[in-house]
Amino acid sequence: MLTPEQIETRLERILSSVQKPARYVGGEVNSVVKDWDSVSTRVALIFPDIYDIGVSNVGLKILYDQINQRHDALAERAYSVWTDMEAKMREQGIPLYALESKRPLGGFDILGFSLPYETLYTNTLNILDLAGIPLRSADRDETQPLVIAGGHACTNPEPMHAFIDAFVIGEGEEVIHEIIDAVQARQSQSATRADLLLALAKIPGVYVPRFYKTHYMDDGTVSHMETLADNLPATIVKRIVGKLPPPPTKFIVPNIEVVHNRASVEIMRGCTRGCRFCQAGMITRPVRERSVDDIVEAAAQAIRSSGFEELALLSLSSSDFTYVVELVNKISEKFKGQKLTISLPSLRIESVSIDLMDKLREHYSGGFTLAPEAASERMRRTINKFIPDEDILNTTREIYRRGWTTIKLYFMIGHPSETIEDVQAIVNLCKRVIAEGRKAAGMKVKLNVGVGTLVPKPQTPFQWVSVDTRESILAKQQLLKDGLRDRSLKLSWTRPDDTLLEAWLARGDRRTAEVIHAAWKRGAKFDAWEESRKHEIWMSAFAECGLDPAFYTHRTRRTDEIFAWDHIATAVRKNFLFQDFRQSLEGKIRVDCRQNCYACGILPTFSNLRREHPGGGWKCPDVKSPAKVSHPLSVIRGQIPVSGD
Ligand code: SF4
Repeated sequence: MLTPEQIETRLERILSSVQKPARYVGGEVNSVVKDWDSVSTRVALIFPDIYDIGVSNVGLKILYDQINQRHDALAERAYSVWTDMEAKMREQGIPLYALESKRPLGGFDILGFSLPYETLYTNTLNILDLAGIPLRSADRDETQPLVIAGGHACTNPEPMHAFIDAFVIGEGEEVIHEIIDAVQARQSQSATRADLLLALAKIPGVYVPRFYKTHYMDDGTVSHMETLADNLPATIVKRIVGKLPPPPTKFIVPNIEVVHNRASVEIMRGCTRGCRFCQAGMITRPVRERSVDDIVEAAAQAIRSSGFEELALLSLSSSDFTYVVELVNKISEKFKGQKLTISLPSLRIESVSIDLMDKLREHYSGGFTLAPEAASERMRRTINKFIPDEDILNTTREIYRRGWTTIKLYFMIGHPSETIEDVQAIVNLCKRVIAEGRKAAGMKVKLNVGVGTLVPKPQTPFQWVSVDTRESILAKQQLLKDGLRDRSLKLSWTRPDDTLLEAWLARGDRRTAEVIHAAWKRGAKFDAWEESRKHEIWMSAFAECGLDPAFYTHRTRRTDEIFAWDHIATAVRKNFLFQDFRQSLEGKIRVDCRQNCYACGILPTFSNLRREHPGGGWKCPDVKSPAKVSHPLSVIRGQIPVSGD
């Protein structure tokens, strides 16, 4: 294995010939370089995309901070290298290395991948290959690092089961320490890799695929999951922290301009609005809020330690933070007169957002982004994001009237039971927003409209739904293009092939792993980049594996079907999700469960944890017995309607 010095020497030969060489050198302010021999466990945290994107990933920042606080372990970082650098590295025989010490990834004890979304899968294989580590978990011997992964996409880990030794389901702040302790126990007992993996499989929230076997029905759906070792859980329940630990405040200051050149503080975790398409909202429950003072103090430390001129107050739905007005006031006070932009992403359309923004006006430069996600009131009921049209018009009019010239509105097509009228409603609503804007603020107003296509994600009420067909998506997008021709309107949309790729990877099963491997072998990588995605590669990979991609996206689902991810539990009961899905078809809405608990399953699962953390900022009301489920899965046999049925 090459030494850091040998890698440095070879790097000097090639860095001047690649784009943005500063991506590959490390040495940033606030990066932690520990003495390699002073610790017993070395962890490489990896974001499988380029430095410009990965360096801003909050999940890895939290783990980097957590691990480097230990005296017996160190954490370093690695990212995908861009294609020009990869070619040079392969040419020069340089394995992928960590930025802090320039040590090859093969020399670490643990490689920890962050997988927030599925289109990072081929890059993960490419990283393992460039690091000289066998792609398949089964091919790794005693000398190879342990390869683990975590992130939202892992709530269906099956497509990547062959390549990852162990998955962390849920939140990693505590589990990562238990994993490091298990690795150290193995080192001290000189136990085998298999012993280590079995020990990991007994840690709550850790899923080790090699100890499970999927059995299929003749129709290709899952019949059951067999456990291949004793005393292992049949269902892996996600881990959460009872109280959010102190947030990282030492932000690495990147060497180059990156996606988010800013400090950030997570003000709360989870969301209880219950939008039926939203995987993040379903899998990050319960809501736990930080205190206003903790947030303000962390923000001050983060800005002090980094010198960033932007601060983001992060959550899935910031205007739902209980003390949001007090927080904004205190933050404004704290940074009065300082050159600092404060962003409060993901605001709800309710008017409170504008008051907030006015308060932040001194520190807020960006446009205004709102996500109605559907334009007809009927469809907003179906997706459970009910806001009357008038509220949307009042809010956008007020935003323009208060001087913001650009608003971004996000919509989605392909929702269940969607009609062409629902799509036409997007055109009508946007035209009304612009017309009202012009009345309120003149002709200078602009509206950017982003239209995605629903990917019915695992662990959501829409997991029973099929993806809209390619032809239907194209027809709907053409309707939008024709309808939204206006110089003040800018329309962007997701290509149907990109939607399909995301859906195949999100809704796949263990057989999809072979498709991912075949696609990678055929050159697929950087699938998260529009210009790099090659649909034909994926189609030929499916053909090579004898699999029909439509099985994962365009096949109607049985109500009592076992999904490939059913052995992974986010503590939101499947029955609850099904009941919620049925309600969506009946146009029934559920209000924010802060006001009315629907017994989704979180409380019975984590009530002890809640009791152990009285100050954890939980937003679930007191424990209530689970509501009588009106549509038990096992009773209803039949077909699930697809979009437009
Ligand atoms: S337990 Fe109740 S309040 Fe808590 S997330 Fe579930 S439905 Fe909402």
